[in-house]
Amino acid sequence: MQSNNKLPSLENINLSGKRVLVRLDLNVPIDDGEIVDETRITETLKTLVYLIEKAEKVIILSHLGRPTEGCYEERYSLKPVASRLSQLLNKSIPLARSFDELDIVLNNFDVVMFENVRFQVGETKNSSELSSLYAKRVDLFVMDAFGASHREHASTCGVINFVDQACAGYLMEKEITALEKVICEPLSPIIAIVGGSKVSTKLEVLSNLMQHVDYLILGGGIANTLLLAKGINMQASLVEASMLSFALDLLEGKYGSAEILLPDDAVCANSFDDLINISEVPIGEIPENSMMLDIGTLTTKVYREVLIKAKTIIWNGPLGVFEKEPFSYGTKAIAETIVASDAYALAGGGDTVAAINQFGLAQGISYISTGGGASLEFLGGKVLPAIEALRKNLEVVTK
Ligand code: ADP
Ligand code: MG
Repeated sequence: MQSNNKLPSLENINLSGKRVLVRLDLNVPIDDGEIVDETRITETLKTLVYLIEKAEKVIILSHLGRPTEGCYEERYSLKPVASRLSQLLNKSIPLARSFDELDIVLNNFDVVMFENVRFQVGETKNSSELSSLYAKRVDLFVMDAFGASHREHASTCGVINFVDQACAGYLMEKEITALEKVICEPLSPIIAIVGGSKVSTKLEVLSNLMQHVDYLILGGGIANTLLLAKGINMQASLVEASMLSFALDLLEGKYGSAEILLPDDAVCANSFDDLINISEVPIGEIPENSMMLDIGTLTTKVYREVLIKAKTIIWNGPLGVFEKEPFSYGTKAIAETIVASDAYALAGGGDTVAAINQFGLAQGISYISTGGGASLEFLGGKVLPAIEALRKNLEVVTK
């Protein structure tokens, strides 16, 4: 595994009188307007408190979920996040829904949050126009959204090309240092556990991880897709049908020699909310119209036996729909095994961290990262676009 990441640091910048734009990853799990897990919010406090104390104005940017660009949707609003941050900082933080609103609010407030960056057209296409709209309002850009640093978007990368000065925040530095420890000194066996629902992005990352780990333990939509690629009828389960040939290449060892472990049995139901007609079946016998929503008892046993011998563990993605009790046992058993093992264990991802906290097991995990996909890509040896953009900005400034 490679290491690559010296970045311009917030510590060395004079903030006095400056207007600062800070990109955070406040993409917390929200259920019915309630924040389910606030780890990502509390992890940003060090940078925020520092900026609020030293700078003249602070504009906070973040994404939340995956709304359609250009369309405001209440369920993707950062409203609950802005109000929680206001409580934590003991400071009123208004939420601006447009650039015009932002300019007006900035006249009366020192700290303003901008509404979900993914409501803006051009965010995910890394539009120069949008990037410069952010940049022209500030003197400095602070990138502290480690969890979004694998995205080449306007608010994570593009803006860096248009500001005079850009640097990494404290959370970015902390995350990079912790992940580099795993990259530089991993003890074997190294086991990656990957699950969850963001199948296409994570499948791609697996191709990198295959070269660096000894075992890949799979669950969630990732496992479903590989099982389908092997010819198993997954019925109504979450799969990424467009990635079957990629999944086959992965299974055939085209990308690396890690041993891939897939479920042998499944906990199934017709919907996430069907908590009555639940069955546990061997993997080839998922009932018609049914979905695999957790790994079964046999799979859990096999996974535990392999995992307990690990010396380094990387975990992103729940193994089942852990939010619902009947489908939470696989994820819980894996989390308990990680805690019981003597491995250095790194876990990341909004939902993965929510699961760990739900089980009350956070204390037993060596390092909890705010990044899911970003951590996996970093550990797989990829250069993350936002880190690259910061480094290039540093080169330009110091030339
Ligand atoms: P993270 O946020 O940790 O990176 P993801 O966002 O990729 O993880 O996935 C988390 C979601 O995946 C959870 O809401 C969980 O309910 C869902 N999930 C896990 N297993 C399954 C499955 N078998 N079918 C459908 N959804 C699943
Ligand atoms: Mg998630």
